[in-house]
Amino acid sequence: MTVDEMPEPRIDTSRPHPARVYDWLLGGKDNYPVDQQVAEKLPEEARGNAARNRAFMHRASAWLARRGVDQFLDIGTGIPTEPNLHQVVQAITPSARVVYADNDPIVLRHAQALLVSRPEGITDYLHADVRRPGAILEHARGLLDFDRPIALSLIALMHFLPDDEDPYGLTRTLVDALPAGSFLVLSHGTADQHPELKDETEATYKKGAIPLRMRTRSEVEPFFEGLELVEPGLVFATQWYREEPAPVQERSGFYVGVGRVR
Ligand code: SAH
Repeated sequence: MTVDEMPEPRIDTSRPHPARVYDWLLGGKDNYPVDQQVAEKLPEEARGNAARNRAFMHRASAWLARRGVDQFLDIGTGIPTEPNLHQVVQAITPSARVVYADNDPIVLRHAQALLVSRPEGITDYLHADVRRPGAILEHARGLLDFDRPIALSLIALMHFLPDDEDPYGLTRTLVDALPAGSFLVLSHGTADQHPELKDETEATYKKGAIPLRMRTRSEVEPFFEGLELVEPGLVFATQWYREEPAPVQERSGFYVGVGRVR
């Protein structure tokens, strides 16, 4: 585990944090009253949306592992919630290597749970911010082989970056470092299926000083620029199925997609 030149991380319980609000939405216990106050005010759909987003991460990671990808870089990991990505992929390929990164001190505190690798594989946790992609890549280069395909996952992360923090450019920097045959697995909050809930959701996060920038389909598409989207393309989280038929549609608050690096 490496602390990315940041000051000793402290858990700040005076203001809400995205990782802890999301933990509450998933039914976790690693959150504080400030986080609960935000989470409880979100529209009822938020809980189902979080669970369906997490389920997409499971399906996409398992699909990649089954088709031979054995190196994973997951940024914006969140508070451990079983099964975590390494558990999903190491159940398929025990020797898989997984590097996690998140900028929240509470995730660092719980990182021990992310570091219990299968003995054949590796899991590693880096306390780092996606706005400094160079530091993450440098660390990952020490653990992953950048001459072989890597799956980069940015799951429910980029909607916390406002436009002026250049979420597209940061994604491009990370993707450009990956060799051909690698993948970007991305999910992103949207109100396209819940337009009536957009203002309420953004305002609730804003009251907690968390900038939430839900994006429309045409605003999510550029994250995959230059990549070859694999079937079924850029779809709602409830529609991304590869190995089994998609169940009866439920509305979703997330666009998801898997893009292949050419
Ligand atoms: N990927 C997980 C968790 C999503 S919650 C899942 O989908 O289940 C979003 C996570 O992104 C939180 O853990 C939060 O701490 C992290 N995050 C937010 N902004 C970040 C940043 N600038 N750099 C790194 N991580 C960030």
